[in-house]
Amino acid sequence: MSLTIATELAARFRQCFGKEPRLFRAPGRVNLIGEHTDYNDGFVLPAALDLAVFVAIAPRADRRLRLRSLVMDETAEFDLDDSAPLPRGDWSDYAHGVAVVLARAGHRLSGADLLIDADLPLGAGLSASAAFEVAVGYALLAVSGASVDKVELAKICQRAENEFVGMRCGIMDQYISCCAVAGSALLLDCRSLEAKPVAIDPSARLVVCDTMIRHRLVADEYNERRDECERAVALLSSGIDGVSALRDVSIEALMRHAEDLPEVIFRRARHVVSENARTLRAAAALESGDLATCGRMMDLSHASLRDDYEVSCPELDLLVDIAQGLPGVYGARMMGGGFGGSTINLVDADHAAAFAGSVQERYRQAKGVTPPVFDCAPGPGAGPVGA
Ligand code: ADP
Ligand code: MG
Repeated sequence: MSLTIATELAARFRQCFGKEPRLFRAPGRVNLIGEHTDYNDGFVLPAALDLAVFVAIAPRADRRLRLRSLVMDETAEFDLDDSAPLPRGDWSDYAHGVAVVLARAGHRLSGADLLIDADLPLGAGLSASAAFEVAVGYALLAVSGASVDKVELAKICQRAENEFVGMRCGIMDQYISCCAVAGSALLLDCRSLEAKPVAIDPSARLVVCDTMIRHRLVADEYNERRDECERAVALLSSGIDGVSALRDVSIEALMRHAEDLPEVIFRRARHVVSENARTLRAAAALESGDLATCGRMMDLSHASLRDDYEVSCPELDLLVDIAQGLPGVYGARMMGGGFGGSTINLVDADHAAAFAGSVQERYRQAKGVTPPVFDCAPGPGAGPVGA
């Protein structure tokens, strides 16, 4: 964990605001497998990163929130007593939304000055948005003398992104940023919100490769996939008993009712239903040290996201193709919403350094740019810095 960034942030805060801040951090995440399953009440297998969003905060005597993001090099200001708060359509909505939802949930927040920095890349599919929300939520509650259950904070941050930012994300990103366990992934049941830590064998590394492609229409495409899943549920629930989400559909039942669905909707459903099964299988394999099976599930996940869910892009496919052909690689797949962002690779620790070099070289030969590669250690969830 980067303590330097926190120390520097505290010094900048004293300079800017002339008072002593408290410091909080919330991590970004990888997801080994379980993509586009969280909003279908399904299973995911994320782990928090040692890369995070950092917030320095001190209370104000008035009812204003003043935020300065060093990453965006911008400042935004809001009044906590504004009776009709509106999104502006920029980065500040994530933080403002958290304050608004916390207030609606009955928390009396104190005005505050916040200085924000991050060593987590934004828009890379590592969920900087959730890390930002959770860090701000944690900090606002702490200076207001309130506390909240971590799962509750995750739900509040998800609501902020759903209702204030307009991104209908599931619970995974906020949940893992709040509740992660160092050294482990969490097998999270997105319906019950029960999570089971699954230790990641230290002989394997989680390596992230960033395409550097940032698709502007991710939110539109993402929300469209959600609509398609809801359509599948509406159509399937008339033929199969007890279906309130795609989580409730087995692959056998889906195949029996294939004719009831338009072809595209069938393929969307097939991705989600098969991905849930792959995620459970991958978690069991990881737990028993069977990295080869875990990796094979990741490879299959990528093919399903590319062909059935159609959320990949040529750059992601290329990074995955390169990775799958390299020595010491158990599995590789696109990660996150899709249409750009990053891939996640499960790589033998002894091969990780050579893997990074080979991926960068081959991708550069094909595309003319060198993709950033992050060799990640599974870290703890959000909290005060230094705790
Ligand atoms: P991802 O979550 O994959 O990183 P998103 O597009 O969902 O991608 O979230 C990135 C957005 O979150 C940024 O464009 C910005 O609006 C906001 N954000 C995240 N971290 C910060 C930060 N440190 N300062 C300001 N805004 C941030
Ligand atoms: Mg995001």
